[in-house]
Amino acid sequence: MIIGRSVFTGYEGKQAVLVLYKYRKKMGFLVVVNYFNYLRCFFLTVIFKQNMDQVRVKDKDFRLFLSAETIQENIRLVAKKINEELVDKNPLFLAVLNGSFMFAADLMKQVTIPCQISFVKLASYEGMQSGGTIREVFGLSEKIEGRTVVVVEDIVDSGRTMQQLIASLETRNPEEIRIATLLFKPEALQCELHLDYVVFEIPNDFVVGYGLDYDGYGRNLKDVYTLIY
Ligand code: 5GP
Ligand code: MG
Repeated sequence: MIIGRSVFTGYEGKQAVLVLYKYRKKMGFLVVVNYFNYLRCFFLTVIFKQNMDQVRVKDKDFRLFLSAETIQENIRLVAKKINEELVDKNPLFLAVLNGSFMFAADLMKQVTIPCQISFVKLASYEGMQSGGTIREVFGLSEKIEGRTVVVVEDIVDSGRTMQQLIASLETRNPEEIRIATLLFKPEALQCELHLDYVVFEIPNDFVVGYGLDYDGYGRNLKDVYTLIY
């Protein structure tokens, strides 16, 4: 797989073709054979690449969308901004489980200012009065009064979850609440929400991997994949 890919996309592959072209008269028959090999590599690469870039999670197929390298690079940039903006704030990072566990871990490795991190979980139940889903915050043992809180989320879709979490946190009188999210789907947003740190804006498609799940599966993937419809 790797050989096919490097011959086709790599510098060596292009050089080889140039050399073949230059000496085509002297090499005659060999050139044809090598061109044939080159084409074979090209098609093998395409086939293998497609397979490598696709995963099946439960009963659905997903295509590679954000590579682990791209994710790390963009997280580094966001962390840099946080380090600059919150240097004197002694922030408390609140990672929302389960989805944000990978993002929170990688983000925190790049945050170099004095800070604390804690984890919360949101439990959903059907509200009796409003008719909508109410989410209660569990696991928040830290006092957040007077503190700068940075909520760390995996994805903001309609924004309702985040809106409810912020409302709940605000009753505890923090000095300021900021939001850091790995993914944001601007087209899906249904409420007013200010996001301070967004690693990627993405289209309104279903994604898995890097903490995000499909029916509990796929959280362990190191890249983010998008559903093939
Ligand atoms: P919201 O309340 O913003 O509509 O939704 C937030 C929650 O919905 C996220 O924390 C996540 O659990 C789930 N969610 C929204 N979009 C996606 C998606 O594309 N993939 C996955 N795996 N979960 C999503
Ligand atoms: Mg989430």
